[in-house]
Amino acid sequence: AREAAVDAPPTPGALADGTAIALLANLGKPADAADAVARGAEGVGLFRTEFLFLSASQAPTVAEQTETYRELLSAFGGKKVVVRMLDAGADKPLAFLNDAHEDNPALGLRGLRALRASEDILREQLTALAAADATTDADLWVMAPMVTTVEETAYFTGLAKEYGLKTAGVMVEVPASALLADRVLAHADFASIGTNDLTQYTMAADRLLGSVAGFQDPWHPAVLRLVGEVGAAGARAGKPVGICGEAAADPLLALVLVGLGATSLSMAPAALADVRLALSERTLDEARRLAEIALAADDAAGAHHAVAEAAAALP
Ligand code: PEP
Ligand code: MG
Repeated sequence: AREAAVDAPPTPGALADGTAIALLANLGKPADAADAVARGAEGVGLFRTEFLFLSASQAPTVAEQTETYRELLSAFGGKKVVVRMLDAGADKPLAFLNDAHEDNPALGLRGLRALRASEDILREQLTALAAADATTDADLWVMAPMVTTVEETAYFTGLAKEYGLKTAGVMVEVPASALLADRVLAHADFASIGTNDLTQYTMAADRLLGSVAGFQDPWHPAVLRLVGEVGAAGARAGKPVGICGEAAADPLLALVLVGLGATSLSMAPAALADVRLALSERTLDEARRLAEIALAADDAAGAHHAVAEAAAALP
C-alpha cells in the first residue's frame, strides 16, 4: 500500500470540504515543465519570461519567442498556463529597456511601465504568444507585471485582446491596485497577487536589501489585508484571484491566503506536495477563521504565531 501511495499521481488541490484550489507551478523556462507535471502541477500560474531577455543585448525575435512559448504550452495540453509579460527593471534590469540611472529603480520605470515605454517589445511578445497559442490546446492566460492603475489595466487587457488572446489579467503587486481591486477587475479577467513585490511596496523595504530584510515578511497583517481586498473583489466579480509570490509555498500561509479569497496558488514545483497536504486537512471555514486571526495581529511574527497555535488546536 505504501508503494502504491508513492506511485499514485498527485491529486488536484482541494480543501477537506472539497473546495477546489488549483495548485500551479511557477516556472522560469520550458525545460522545467516536465518536473512540474510530475509533481502534479495543474498548470502554470506564473511563467516568468525574463530568461529570454536577461542574457541578451537585444530582445529575442518573435520567431525565437514563439518557439519557446510553444514548447511551454505543449507541455501543458488542456491545462491553464499563465504567462507574464517581461518584468524588467529594479531587481531584473535590462540594458535595452531600463534607464540605468534611476535613483530608486523599484519605484521607477519597471514592469508594465517599462513595456509601455518600449511598446514594440510588448507587441512582439503578444504576437509570439498568439502564434504559439494557435498551435496547442493549452489554456493560455496572459498577465502584466507591476500594474498600478485602472488605466494601465485597461491598456494591457485591451492590447492583449487585439492579438486575439482570450484571457488577460494583471499582477497585483502594488498597494494601489490592491486597494482598487474592484475597479481593476472591472477591466481584467483575473488578478494574480505577487506577494514578493506586494510585501516590498507595502512595507517600504527593498526586497534585495539585507539591512531591511526583516520587513520582507508576507505574514504581515498589512500585506494580508491587501490580499483580502483583492480576494473579496474577486469573489464579488466572480473572477479568479491567484497567488504567485513565495507566500503561496508556505503551507500554513497558503491556508490563510485561501481564507482571504485566493482561488489558486502557484509556487516552485518542489513546494506543491506540502501545500497540497496542508489544504487537504482543512475546510474553507477553517481557512477563513485562520485568516481572521492573522488579520487581527499587530505584526508578521504575531500573525504567524497566532495562526500556528489556532491551526494546532483545530481537530
Ligand atoms: C512577486 O513579486 O511576488 C512575483 C511573483 O514576481 P517576481 O518575484 O518575479 O517579482
Ligand atoms: Mg514581482
